[in-house]
Amino acid sequence: MSKKKKREIPIFDHPIFETHCHLDYLKERSTEETLALSCEKGINKFITISVAPGNLDKVIEISKAHENVYCTQGLHPHEAKHWTSEVEQKILNHSTFEKVVAIGEIGLDFHYNNSPKEKQIEVFKRQLEIATEKELPVVIHSRDADPETIEVLSEMAPQMKKKGVIHSFTSGPELAQTAIDLGFHLGFNGIITFKNAQAVRDIVTLTPLERILLETDSPFLTPTPYRGMENGPQYLPFIAEKIAEIKEVSVDEVLVQAYKNSTSLFLS
Ligand SMILES: [Zn+2]
Repeated sequence: MSKKKKREIPIFDHPIFETHCHLDYLKERSTEETLALSCEKGINKFITISVAPGNLDKVIEISKAHENVYCTQGLHPHEAKHWTSEVEQKILNHSTFEKVVAIGEIGLDFHYNNSPKEKQIEVFKRQLEIATEKELPVVIHSRDADPETIEVLSEMAPQMKKKGVIHSFTSGPELAQTAIDLGFHLGFNGIITFKNAQAVRDIVTLTPLERILLETDSPFLTPTPYRGMENGPQYLPFIAEKIAEIKEVSVDEVLVQAYKNSTSLFLS
């Protein structure tokens, strides 16, 4: 490993909206320290995402404790096997809390198959119905499941008043185009800074700036040049810079548009 000092996190003139992090999974710093450090770098709104029955309450508590932190309610596809009527009832009850801004993260993951495929599809559809009923957008995780995600969204998205985002987008151009045509946004994170991720950068190229959201998915997927360290929302400026470079626009333009996209999707 090189001893060279890593480039400092750049600070820009425009605020940044962190649309996808898991604050309750951070280990190196406390939530307070992470939020303070991120605010220094210009990040002023955060959505902390729920994934499992065990953190549906936790994300609500974090959002109650911090004015600029919002949260979601939902079960990740890995957790689909833990879907019960109690979990469903909890998500339904919590979803009326003012700081719950989406149902998520929900979706399909046929890479790890931690839950049976059929169960994942059933739980994904049920949570899309809840979002439709509650008029909330969704935060979708899709991995190695392009045809099934296309099928489910094509069937259900037209009924949804608010659409949502396919976060940490690493799927193919067909799912990207279908999602964009259905009114969804695509979320990009540190993956776009990885050397071997040209396919994802190609998706950035085809995605209109009006449909791009910035996220870290921290504590996972730390962007270059901080790979190997725990990820946090404070690294978002590197992701904005990379989007600007790929789309050949100014970082300011990326920041202004991404912020607008995030507030109109989640806070209006
Ligand atoms: Zn996530």
